[in-house]
Amino acid sequence: SAPDTILAVNNIEVVYDHVILVLKGVSLTVPRGGIVALLGANGAGKTTTLKAISNLLRAERGEVTKGTIEFAGERVDRLTPNELVRRGCIQVMEGRHCFGHLTIEENLLTGAFTRRDGQAAIKRDLEAIYDYFPRLRQRRTSMAGYTSGGEQQMCAIGRAMMSRPRMILLDEPSMGLAPQVVEEIFEIVRALNARESVSFLLAEQNTNIALRYATYGYILETGRVVMDGAADSLRENEDVKEFYLGVA
Ligand code: ATP
Repeated sequence: SAPDTILAVNNIEVVYDHVILVLKGVSLTVPRGGIVALLGANGAGKTTTLKAISNLLRAERGEVTKGTIEFAGERVDRLTPNELVRRGCIQVMEGRHCFGHLTIEENLLTGAFTRRDGQAAIKRDLEAIYDYFPRLRQRRTSMAGYTSGGEQQMCAIGRAMMSRPRMILLDEPSMGLAPQVVEEIFEIVRALNARESVSFLLAEQNTNIALRYATYGYILETGRVVMDGAADSLRENEDVKEFYLGVA
C-alpha cells in the first residue's frame, strides 16, 4: 500500500461458525494521521470489521476467509492481537470494557503491558493522559465500576493510549452517553489525533457526530461498503441525509 496509508483492508470476507458470511468483500483505507468513520446501522458489520483487523474474531468463532490487511506497510492478517498492539494498532472495544474492580489509574496502567521501556516513561505518559482527560485525573483512585459511562469510555481510550499506539480502532464511543459527553470525548479524540499523531478508525452508528470529526467515511450495509467519500460530501449527500442523518 502507499506510504501515506497506515491501514489498508483489501476485499475481506468474514465468516462466523464456518457458514455465516457477514463481511462480503470489504475494502477501506486510513491515511496516516487520518480520522476515518465506519458507519452503518446496527448489524451492518462495523464491529466485525474492527475485530477482523485486530484479529479478535477467533474468540467469536469468526474467521477472515478472503482478502488481506496491511498495517504500516506490512501484512498483519496472521498476527495475534498482542503482536498487533506491539506494532502500534489497538482496538477499544464497544461497551468500554474497563476492569470495574480496579481503580482508574490501575486500569490505565494495564494498558502499558506490551511496553518494554521503563517505569519512568510509563509514569510520564500517565501524566500526559491525565492532561488530555482531566476527569480521569480527578477520578484516579476511584474504582472504575463506580465511575460514569463517559469516564469509563475515557478510561478505555486512555488505557489504549498507554500502549503508545499509532492507530486506534474505536468501536462506538458514543454508545449510551449524553450528547455533551459524546462531544467531550470526540474533542479529545481530535486532540490525540492532532497532537499525538494517532490515526483513528471509528465505528459509529451516530453518523452525525462521526462525520463532524472524521475527514472521510465508509458506509456499510449488510457486510458491504455501499458508499464512501469525504466527510463533507457525505454530509451533503441526499441518501445519507435521509437514511443516516435523520433529515430529508
Ligand atoms: P453493532 O452496532 O451491533 O456492533 P455492527 O455493524 O458492528 O453492529 P456486527 O456486530 O459486526 O455489526 O455484526 C454483523 C452481523 O454479524 C450481524 O448480523 C450479527 O448478527 C452477526 N454476528 C456478529 N457476531 C456473530 C457471531 N459471533 N456469530 C454469528 N454471527 C455474528
